[in-house]
Amino acid sequence: MKSWAVIVAAGRGARAGFDINKVYMPLGSMTVLEMCLRAFEASGLFQGITVVISEADRELYGAISVPDIVKNVTTGGTTRQESVYRGLAAVPEDVDVVAVHDAARPFVTREIIEETLVSAMKHGSGVISTPVTDTIKQLSADGRVMTLDRGTLYSVQTPQSFRRDLLLRAHEMAAAEGFSTTDDAALYERYYGDLRLVTAPGAENNIKLTHKRDFGRQTMDIRIGQGYDAHRLKEGRRLVLCGVEIPSPIGLDGHSDADVAIHALMDAMLGAAAMGDIGRLFPDSDDRYLGISSMKLLDEVSRRLAEAGYKVSNADITIIAQRPKLAPYMEKMRRVTANALGLGPERVNIKATTTERMGFEGAGEGISSHAVVTIKEVK
Ligand code: MG
Repeated sequence: MKSWAVIVAAGRGARAGFDINKVYMPLGSMTVLEMCLRAFEASGLFQGITVVISEADRELYGAISVPDIVKNVTTGGTTRQESVYRGLAAVPEDVDVVAVHDAARPFVTREIIEETLVSAMKHGSGVISTPVTDTIKQLSADGRVMTLDRGTLYSVQTPQSFRRDLLLRAHEMAAAEGFSTTDDAALYERYYGDLRLVTAPGAENNIKLTHKRDFGRQTMDIRIGQGYDAHRLKEGRRLVLCGVEIPSPIGLDGHSDADVAIHALMDAMLGAAAMGDIGRLFPDSDDRYLGISSMKLLDEVSRRLAEAGYKVSNADITIIAQRPKLAPYMEKMRRVTANALGLGPERVNIKATTTERMGFEGAGEGISSHAVVTIKEVK
């Protein structure tokens, strides 16, 4: 069996509101169309791909990196149906099964494609579909509302796979009688009746990028920062960690209250936002910060991040101390830190470790701390 894909990228995608056809917009490291072509190539299920583009997009298409499996490019018509028809005409005649797919669905997987192909080989057609989860109402012309039985309803996507000869003939017949519809499944149904729907795991993620917000949702632009700090232990000083005072005969020495864990956290936050470090923000030479609670400094760092459009998403702090035992205070430290960041406690983790008496922490000379945070854009 010889299989071929027709990827339709000829629409204008006007609803997305970009200056250019949305399939040429980047989604992470490549354009939507490239993602789609790569997914079809990576499936290993095809001998070739025909891409249908708009004449107006020739330059944009020329600028993307096209995998070798793309064998030809054709230009589309004024409707999607006409574009698919033109694409089909460019598919070699010895191809048995053809999968038609919208370039605006770049999250298609091998499993989804394969289900449709296998069905098309066996039964002539295979259209990926998902059970409808919303209750659907039908509004009649006279304003009456009817509730449809959700259990019988499916929403269909692409890929839609068919025996090539049958689909091509359906398009020829539709063109001859001037029948137009929204997808190939509807054409097949009209002329052959026996349309096969298939389902596959992950089909619910095979969404069509339609609006600008769909692009925002898909872009996983995660920023990570890490921070490190160490302070010397000194008699007569208070020991404050994560904003919590811990009873101890010795405490951390420093310009502020020397809350080493919050210092590491602030550096991680500033690091994630590419905004420098606390040494630059709150210099030791500035007496305003003498003995100040580090929680006040944390508020200031949060404020600066917010100003730049960021908010901490989660934080993980490690405190390295030989003594005192921190376990009894961990939950409180976690709550205080989460609260200061405006987060639920489930988004903050604090852990402590010793170094089995190795190094300066092990010798009880000082305490150090590491922090990792992720931040997200809140604009
Ligand atoms: Mg410090």
